Amino acid sequence: MDEQSAARRVQELKDEINFHNYRYYVLDSPAISDAQYDRLMQELSTLEEAHPELVSPDSPTQRVGAAPAAAFESYTHRQPMLSLANAFSPDDLTAFDLRIKRMLSIPQETELEYAAELKIDGLAISLTYINGEFATGATRGDGFTGENITTNLRTVKSVPLRLINAAPKSSLFDQQSIPPLVEVRGEVYMEHQEFERINREREAAGESAFANPRNAAAGSVRQLDPGVTAGRNLSIFVYGMGFVEDGGWHTHFEVLQAFGEWGLRTNPNTRICRGIEGVLDFVKEWTEKRGTLPYDIDGIVIKVNSLDLQRRLGAVARSPRWALAYKFPTIQETTVVRDIIVQVGRTGALTPVAVMDPVEVGGVTVSRATLHNEDEIRRKDVRIGDTVVIQRAGDVIPEVVQVIADKRTGDEQPFVMPDHCPACGGDVERPEGEAVARCVNIACPAQLKERIVHFTSRNALDIEGVGPAQIESFVDCGLIHDPADLYTLKLDDLLPLERMGEKLAKKILRNIDKSRETTLSRLIFGLGIRHVGERVAQVLAEHFGSLSMVEAASKEELSQVPEIGPAIAESIVDFFLEPRNRKVLQKLCMAGVKPRVETVEAGATLSGKTFVFTGTLKSSTREEAEEKVRRLGGKAAGSVSRNTSFVVAGTEAGSKLRKAQELGVRVLSEEEFLEMIS
Ligand code: NAD
Repeated sequence: MDEQSAARRVQELKDEINFHNYRYYVLDSPAISDAQYDRLMQELSTLEEAHPELVSPDSPTQRVGAAPAAAFESYTHRQPMLSLANAFSPDDLTAFDLRIKRMLSIPQETELEYAAELKIDGLAISLTYINGEFATGATRGDGFTGENITTNLRTVKSVPLRLINAAPKSSLFDQQSIPPLVEVRGEVYMEHQEFERINREREAAGESAFANPRNAAAGSVRQLDPGVTAGRNLSIFVYGMGFVEDGGWHTHFEVLQAFGEWGLRTNPNTRICRGIEGVLDFVKEWTEKRGTLPYDIDGIVIKVNSLDLQRRLGAVARSPRWALAYKFPTIQETTVVRDIIVQVGRTGALTPVAVMDPVEVGGVTVSRATLHNEDEIRRKDVRIGDTVVIQRAGDVIPEVVQVIADKRTGDEQPFVMPDHCPACGGDVERPEGEAVARCVNIACPAQLKERIVHFTSRNALDIEGVGPAQIESFVDCGLIHDPADLYTLKLDDLLPLERMGEKLAKKILRNIDKSRETTLSRLIFGLGIRHVGERVAQVLAEHFGSLSMVEAASKEELSQVPEIGPAIAESIVDFFLEPRNRKVLQKLCMAGVKPRVETVEAGATLSGKTFVFTGTLKSSTREEAEEKVRRLGGKAAGSVSRNTSFVVAGTEAGSKLRKAQELGVRVLSEEEFLEMIS
């Protein structure tokens, strides 16, 4: 790019980023996704690196946040509140490690010690304590001057109004060690449950909902009326030092420990990692389990643990050199809705789906996102032609989070829910008080295929080789009309089908035959009764012991079973009332499908014990091993905690094994486990 075009693009980017900074930091109402913002910033940094003469002090790459809003009294930080340099891949983390070792002139093979912390997705704030008393709370603002929000922060329960000294006598830090002036930095955030509660209230009051917990937290703490802040349950984690007279600490971790002992709330998941390898493990672990937290994190922050090395490394304009924020792959993006179609699910539910311009979200190209139901479309006011923020979390189906109303041109088309099923033309019913419209035709082909796919799926009857493609051809050729028909299939039925050889056909028939031997909970789950997931199916199987007992149970009897609420009870009763469903059950029985009754085996040798399986087992699948544990009266859990009795480690066991070792939970090899249950 020549000098002139570069200068023009730099100016465009500066203007655009400054506009978005204002929307994000001052109005708490971003107009683009964070990923798009990050891309604009990266483009600007790259251009400025190539053309250093274009770097100006007012460039967003040289500054933090945005100037404080005039509505608040301003507050000058004793020590600037900087931002953090970003990393977007494991390679960026490794490069960071090499860079700082070079700067420190220490050998590349040295393993530096890092504190790895969760990057809480909230709003940065500074808390000042004078003689142990909470004196001032402020936002980051432009890093030098923030907004004085003391009265609002006083309403946040986890902000101590007075520092205490909970240090044990043996501790490094005794009573005298709370310095007269303490300025600490932390993040104010909102837990998911509170976020949902507030959005429900706002909707009921006809107000617009917050797009995410971060905006809700920022909007709540920057209120002119502290009463409003008090009504929102905000929380805080403190993660760093601002201006504090020397407390005699050597490491960042010691600082966090001292904060904890003074009554400040620090995050319990911080870990000291040896070398960048340890950091990479921590990043991997939390990328997987971030969804288990009750609050949002958008990455991992790593900090050189030694305070001496931190001082030697210093800072650049916008961020310290000794810390780095690794951002998780994006889960939010913006795109345009081109159409809204309606899909029919296994239970007949009609789900409107947005068809959008393809966009990459967290490494996956997404062109469809669920709009859930008619009410959701109305609530979010999504129209065909709208620019929207979409979100994808883990393997969950992407969803439309919000419309960016500013981008409307006036040509957008509102959506109308059809009154007939798009798959079969059947009637559509929407029971009172329910959000979901359903096709009532039980023979609806859209439901049939889905129902059978569910019936054969791994956690139901587990019929290997009979996946969606096979089921589609069985149904389309008129070979099966319900799940029970699978058991009537013969070799001659299968051979004429496309891409079906004799070997495959025989294998399919063998697997179907094998599935006659199943467990009661798998069969109940496989029926696809509304609200009956795996857990509920298991509860029903254990409680009633046979399908006919479940069928005979009244709504009242079902409601008395622990974990079965009235909505589940009603849906079970409705399922068995439907004559067509009873006929299918009869056919299954005639076909020889005989579920094993899962009462706890005599002896219940594992009663009171909780097992977690990790890695690959040789003798069975993880699900089978878990089933065995349950049959012997034990519990199988998905994650390791202090309450776990044993972790069974197969080959290539990962983070769960490490967690067990950290918590001192007993680890069993697969052989030891088999011996225990034999
Ligand atoms: P940042 O979010 O990249 O990282 C720095 C911040 O992380 C700190 O200021 C602090 O608030 C927070 N943090 C959370 N946990 C921490 C911990 N354990 N230790 C230290 N800090 C921790 O930087 P930023 O300057 O706050 O914000 C920039 C980011 O904000 C962008 O990358 C983008 O994601 C988002 N943004 C979006 C828009 C938009 O229009 N969508 C506009 C502006 C900024």
